[in-house]
Amino acid sequence: MRLSELNTGEKGVIVKVLGHGGFRKRIVEMGFIKGKTVEVILNAPLKDPIKYRLLGYEISLRRQEADMIEVVSEQEARTMQNPYHGSITEDVPVPESELVALAKGKRRTINVALVGNPNCGKTSLFNIASGAHEHVGNYSGVTVDAKEGFFDFQGYHFRIVDLPGTYSLSAYTPEELYVRKHIIEETPDVIINVADSSNLERNLYLTTQLIDMNVRMVIALNMYDELEASGNKLDYTKLSQLTGVPMVPTVCRRGEGIDKLFHVIIGIYEGGDFLSQKGEIRSEILEELRDWHKTYVPDHEFGSHKEEEEARPRGYMRHIHINHGPELERSIEEVKKAISQNESIRHKYSTRFLSIKLLENDKEIENFISTLPNGKEIIAIRNKEALRIRKVMNEDSEQAITDAKYGFITGALKETFTDNHLEKEQTTRVIDSIVTHRIWGYPIFFLFLYIMFEGTFVLGDYPMQGIEWLVDQLGNLIRNNMAEGPLKDLLIDGIIGGVGGVIVFLPNILLLYFFISILEDSGYMARAAFIMDKIMHRMGLHGKSFIPLIMGFGCNVPAIMATRTIEDRKSRLITMLVNPLMSCSARLPIYLVMIGAFFPNYASFMLLCIYTAGILLAVVMARIFSKFLVKGEDSPFVMELPPYRMPTSKSIMRHTWEKGAQYLKKMGGIIMIASIIIWFLGYYPQHDAYESAAEQQENSYIGQIGKAIEPVIKPLGFDWKLGIGLISGVGAKELVVSTLGVLYTNEGDMENVNLSDRIPITPLVALAYMLFVLIYFPCIATFAAIKQESGSWKWAIFTAGYTTGVAWLVAFAVFQIGNFIV
Ligand code: GDP
Ligand code: MG
Repeated sequence: MRLSELNTGEKGVIVKVLGHGGFRKRIVEMGFIKGKTVEVILNAPLKDPIKYRLLGYEISLRRQEADMIEVVSEQEARTMQNPYHGSITEDVPVPESELVALAKGKRRTINVALVGNPNCGKTSLFNIASGAHEHVGNYSGVTVDAKEGFFDFQGYHFRIVDLPGTYSLSAYTPEELYVRKHIIEETPDVIINVADSSNLERNLYLTTQLIDMNVRMVIALNMYDELEASGNKLDYTKLSQLTGVPMVPTVCRRGEGIDKLFHVIIGIYEGGDFLSQKGEIRSEILEELRDWHKTYVPDHEFGSHKEEEEARPRGYMRHIHINHGPELERSIEEVKKAISQNESIRHKYSTRFLSIKLLENDKEIENFISTLPNGKEIIAIRNKEALRIRKVMNEDSEQAITDAKYGFITGALKETFTDNHLEKEQTTRVIDSIVTHRIWGYPIFFLFLYIMFEGTFVLGDYPMQGIEWLVDQLGNLIRNNMAEGPLKDLLIDGIIGGVGGVIVFLPNILLLYFFISILEDSGYMARAAFIMDKIMHRMGLHGKSFIPLIMGFGCNVPAIMATRTIEDRKSRLITMLVNPLMSCSARLPIYLVMIGAFFPNYASFMLLCIYTAGILLAVVMARIFSKFLVKGEDSPFVMELPPYRMPTSKSIMRHTWEKGAQYLKKMGGIIMIASIIIWFLGYYPQHDAYESAAEQQENSYIGQIGKAIEPVIKPLGFDWKLGIGLISGVGAKELVVSTLGVLYTNEGDMENVNLSDRIPITPLVALAYMLFVLIYFPCIATFAAIKQESGSWKWAIFTAGYTTGVAWLVAFAVFQIGNFIV
C-alpha cells in the first residue's frame, strides 16, 4: 500500500521509499525512514499536499511524493498473514509494534531489474537466480516485454525482471523506451546492470546513462571467464570506486559470482536509504537492522558479509556525476535550473537526467517537458544551449554528450584495464601510446610547456611595446591639454599610471590563454593531467589539479576558477590554497626590475630559481595541508580522456577571449580602484606643501603607513618604501613596480633614469624582496576568487594569512642567513 492511499486519521508504518537517489535522499532526510509510523492529519481527495504527522512533527507531502512511499496500514495488517506474530482479525487498534514488525517483514521483498546490452547474459542470470528455463541465445528481441521470476536468498524475497537488451537509454528503439519506462514507472529497488566484461567500453556506455538517472545499481561483470581467458586484466575494485557503482565478476553460464552479487544487492538495498547528513549510516538504524535480521534471518546477520559492508555508501557506493566537460556541464546546469522549477516532477525524474536527455534531443522527453507549465521556456533554453554547444564545440550537443561519455569511459578504463594485445590501429590509441608513454610522455609534455611559455613571452613582446606606446601617448595627451590640479594628477599618475602599467601585460596573458586553449581543445591537456596524476598524488593532489596550477603562471584568478573540474573537494580546496604560490605573470615585472638591477649576469638563472622556489613551496604546502589541514579521504574519480580533435579557430578564440575578458574585468575593477586609492594615499595630505616629490611621499598617508609597518619588515632588510610597495601589491601585484617607481624618484629627471639604478639596496635585500613578493598575500582578485570558489571567507583569509606568514619567514631566513655568510 502507498502512503497516499491512507485516509485522514489512519496510521501506517513505512516499508520503503521508491524512486531515484535524489528523491529518496530528500524524503529520507525529512524523516520518512522505514519502520517509522506516519499518521495522516488531513487527506482530502482533491487536496494536495497531504498533511502528515511523523516523529511528532507535522509535514506535508505532495500526493505524488506520498505515492512513492510504501507503507503497511492498520487495515492491511488485519488481512495480512504474519507467521511470526499471528494475524489480527478483531476490530481493535493494531498495536504499533505489530505494524512495525509487519513493515519490516514486508521489506524483505526486493525488486530487481536486469538491464544490459543484448547478449550480455541477462537471461542466463535470470534463469540461474529464478530457476526458470527461459530461452537463452543469440536472438534480437522480437517481442518487447519483461519476464518476471522469483528468488529467495538469505531471508529475502527477490522479484527479478529480465528486461530486453539495449545499448542505450534513448528513445530510438522500442526496447530502449521500454527499459527506460520500466525504470521510471516501476522503480525497481536495485538494478543489476549486466555487462559483458570482454567488451566493456561499449557496455559501460549504458552504465553512464544509468548513473545519470541516479538509480541504485550493481554491475554484474558477466562473461568474466572470457575476460580472463583473453589475458587482459581489469582492476574492477578501482573501476567501482571511479564509477561509484559496486561491481561483481560473474560467470552466469556456470553460476559463479551469483551469491556475491545478491549479497551486494542486500547491502545496497539496506544501506542506501538511511544516511545521516554526513553520508553515514545512522547507528540506531544499523542496530535495528541487525535486530531485525536476527528475528527473520537467523542465519544471516546484516553486515556480516564483506560485500554488504562494502556496498554501503561509506564504501564505494557514492553517487557520482559523469563529467561532460565544462561547456556541456554549463548547458546541463542551465537547462536543469529551468526544469527544477517544476517541483511536481522531481519525485519521478532526476532533473539532471532530463536535462541531459533534452540536450540529446530526445523526442520523448521533449514531449514530456512541453507539457510542463514552463515547458516552452525550457525548450527555448535547450535550443539556445544546443546552439551554443554547436558553436563552441563544433558538433551538435547529442554527439558532444556521447563523446564526453566515451571520454569518461576511456579515462576510467585507461586506469583500470590492461589490454595485453595490441589491438586496432586507431588514431587516438596511437597518439595516446606516445604522449602518455611512461617515459616519453614527460619530455613531450615539458616541450609543450616550454613552447607555451616561450611563445607567450617572445610573441607577446611586440604588441606589448605597442600598448606601452599608446599608454604613453594617452598620458602625454592629458599632460599637455589639461589644467594643473589634483584631477590631472589623478588621471595621469593614478589611473593611467596604475592601469596602464598593468594593461601592457594583456598580450602575454591572451597568448598564454591561447596556448592553453589549444592544448585543452585538442584533448592533449587531459593526457597531460593523466600522466601527472602519480606525481600530483604524492603532493596530496590529483592529476586534474595540474592544469589549474599551470594556469596559475598566467593569472591565479582564472586558475582558481579552473579548479571546478576537480570533483574531489579535498584536492580541489588544496589546489586553490597553493595556487597563489604559482608565480603569476603580474609578479614578473618586479623580478625583471630587480634582477636587471642586481643580478644582470645570471638573469635567467635567477628567474628560474624564483619560479622553482614557488613550485617547491607549493609542493611542501600541499603535502602539509593534505596531511594536517583538510580533512576527508581522497575519493577517486575518472580522468576523462576525450577523443583527439583538431581545435577550431572559433572555439580557441572564444576560450581565449573568455579568459582574457576576466582579466580585463579585473583591470577595470579592482586594479583601477586600488590604483586610485594608492594614488590618493600618496598624494594627500597637503600635496603642495613640500619641496621635493620624495619628501612629499614620505609625509603622505602612504608614507605614514609604510613607516608604521617598518618595524615588522626591518628584520627582512626592507625600508618603508619597499614596505609601501608590498602594501600596494595587495591590490594587484603589478602595482608593486609602479609604486616603487613613484617612491624612488630622483629629483628632476625621473623619466630618464632606470628604476633599478634608483633603488639603494643590496642584492641580498633584493633577493629577499623578490621571494617575499612571490609568496605573500595573493592579490585582492585572487582572494575574492578563493572566497567564491571555496564558498567561505575562511579559506580566503587562511590563504592570505599563511602566505604572508611564510613569506615573512622565508625572507627573514634569506636575509639573516645571507648576512651571516657575507
Ligand atoms: P541476454 O541477451 O543478455 O539475455 O544474454 P543470454 O543470457 O541470452 O546469453 C547470451 C549468450 O552468452 C548465451 O549463449 C550464453 O550461454 C552466453 N553466456 C551467458 N553468460 C556467460 C558467461 O558468464 N560466460 C560465457 N562465456 N558465456 C556466457
Ligand atoms: Mg535475454
